[in-house]
Amino acid sequence: MRYRKLGNTGLTVSEIGFGTIPILSGNVPVLPDYYSPELPEAVDIMMHAYKMGCNLYDTAIPEEYGDAEYKLGVFAEKVGREHIIISDKARFMDGNDMFREVQRSAENLGTHPDIYFVHQVDEKNQDETFSRYGALDALCDLKKAGMIRYTGIATHYYSVAARAAADSRVDVIQTSGNILERGILDRIAENAQFQGKGLILNKVYAAGCLIPAFTPAELIGGMLHYPFSCALIGIGTAEQADAAMQTEYVPVSFSFDAVTLRLAQHFAPVPCTRCQRCRCPHGYEVHILLRQYNYYHLGKNYWAMKKLRMNIDEVYEQCRKCTERQCMQDCPQKLRIPELIGRIYEMTR
Ligand code: SF4
Ligand code: SF4
Repeated sequence: MRYRKLGNTGLTVSEIGFGTIPILSGNVPVLPDYYSPELPEAVDIMMHAYKMGCNLYDTAIPEEYGDAEYKLGVFAEKVGREHIIISDKARFMDGNDMFREVQRSAENLGTHPDIYFVHQVDEKNQDETFSRYGALDALCDLKKAGMIRYTGIATHYYSVAARAAADSRVDVIQTSGNILERGILDRIAENAQFQGKGLILNKVYAAGCLIPAFTPAELIGGMLHYPFSCALIGIGTAEQADAAMQTEYVPVSFSFDAVTLRLAQHFAPVPCTRCQRCRCPHGYEVHILLRQYNYYHLGKNYWAMKKLRMNIDEVYEQCRKCTERQCMQDCPQKLRIPELIGRIYEMTR
């Protein structure tokens, strides 16, 4: 296992971290399939990863990750709290709510988390999160009080990550990226404001979607040149821990075209990097629709279709009438977005 610095926090983290979604039990309907090991097995799996050098374990409150927080707390006590770094998160943007949730997390874990993220910050809830007495201010107060060591913002939006990078209250940023959805990371790599911030990466396997078409060596090796501190891999079995952590993968130079060509052996992928440069004046999030299209064909049929059907009819009607097509102006892939929306619309019939 190799190690990297977590920005300016002073922490050194394993290049590969343990994402705890696959070891949770409980009814968390938004999540994809998971393994639900019982507590002793879950603790053994986390220990197995630890013995391969993993020192960062990422979790979230029960409403988001079931009993993973509790299981991680049991593991932390067994392995020795000082040997691991715990990152935790809660989706609350109000300061009072966040204050309460961090205290609850500490009770569930039986220890204080090291890093605490405001989870799922997006373009609609970011102002509340960053505002005076919002969740970020609460994390700063908790840091001063010694309840956490570092503050964090977790987001799937480049604009939010960039705002966090420019905010001195934020120590660590968590965002998503993989060899297909690399657009956010490409932009982060070009933005000097991210230097000094810890960067934790998730969705390296695209929630498992990319596993049939690529090996872990390709998925992990293809990301190693990006300036992240720790890449989280969801681990639900000892074999999965071995695949992610047993070997120090070498960097792989994987062009975006090479990735889409490989996927084209299975379906006709939309070559969207998810860079999020496309802006729609009606507020439609084109990158999410294009992502669901690819995910649908990569095995998440039910889940992706359910999400697409939420607003595809409305988006399709609007795109048909749209003459400005502002979304296409800044797309580096030169994608014909309204036509792609039409393709997705037909798919959902
Ligand atoms: S459609 Fe184009 S601009 Fe929008 S996220 Fe995809 S690649 Fe980026
Ligand atoms: S074509 Fe027009 S309505 Fe459709 S996503 Fe682009 S800007 Fe929005």
